[in-house]
Amino acid sequence: MRYFLLTIFLFYSVFANSQQRDGELKLLVYNVSFGGLTAGIGAIINKPKETPAHKAFFNGFYQGCFGGVLQYGGKKMVYQIAEHENYWYGWPAKLVHTAGASIVENAAFNRPFGRYWNLDLGPLRFDFTFAADENPFRVRFSALMLYDIIATSVQSSSAHVDWEKSLKLGTLAFYTDEPLYGHKKQDIVGRAYSKAFIYTRMTDNNIHKTIAHEFIHLFQYREHLVFNAWLNPLTSKASPTLKNIFQNSIYIEPPYLTPFYLIQGYHSREHYYRNFYEYEAEWFATKGYF
Ligand SMILES: [Zn+2]
Repeated sequence: MRYFLLTIFLFYSVFANSQQRDGELKLLVYNVSFGGLTAGIGAIINKPKETPAHKAFFNGFYQGCFGGVLQYGGKKMVYQIAEHENYWYGWPAKLVHTAGASIVENAAFNRPFGRYWNLDLGPLRFDFTFAADENPFRVRFSALMLYDIIATSVQSSSAHVDWEKSLKLGTLAFYTDEPLYGHKKQDIVGRAYSKAFIYTRMTDNNIHKTIAHEFIHLFQYREHLVFNAWLNPLTSKASPTLKNIFQNSIYIEPPYLTPFYLIQGYHSREHYYRNFYEYEAEWFATKGYF
């Protein structure tokens, strides 16, 4: 186990903290290896006793890398929102990214390739499976969506649901006509929660770019849910009643991205993109021109 923790540590030191992290290639490598490593380690955690660890790892790793390529591809597509000033590009980007995230998650559970797929829509999470002995279709309520709605109303008392953008993006969008403030009262133009985001119309910034940027943050959040697979041995020890609720009604998703984001830190405007997640979001929203 310690070797894997070491691997993760090295991985973050190289990609997330690198000072020369400019370039498309680094983001590609980051996305592919994040998928590969999280799936590989998850596959060891969830392997049957008789499977050797290295076998489980490589089986998860290559599937996770493939999923990582799709996650990267989904993020690349987000640029089309800004390029064509058309929010409908949100759907294909989301579907490709979600397919990638499903493949990574499935591999991290040490399941056969492509057996489980999932998609978030508003407060609901849809699961599909090709496993013959299971219910092919499940709908669960995402517990964190409640947080999003509360956080949005705290963030801005004048927040409104933007139905048009929500429909076009396949993702819940809020807007406000007041300024938005981030960490240390810094002016911000948008903020992503876990499955929803808010933007302000009180800005000269290009709103398509702002939304593309926030959209990438939601993808980052989604990718980190793979850690639920790592906790599987723990959660499967829950009581049958709890298990039944989690498997059929409520999908629990701790905000895994938050500690990673906080480690990267908040920075003043001129150094804002020292935070890797901000850097990645802006890169994909602007094709690296910022
Ligand atoms: Zn951001």
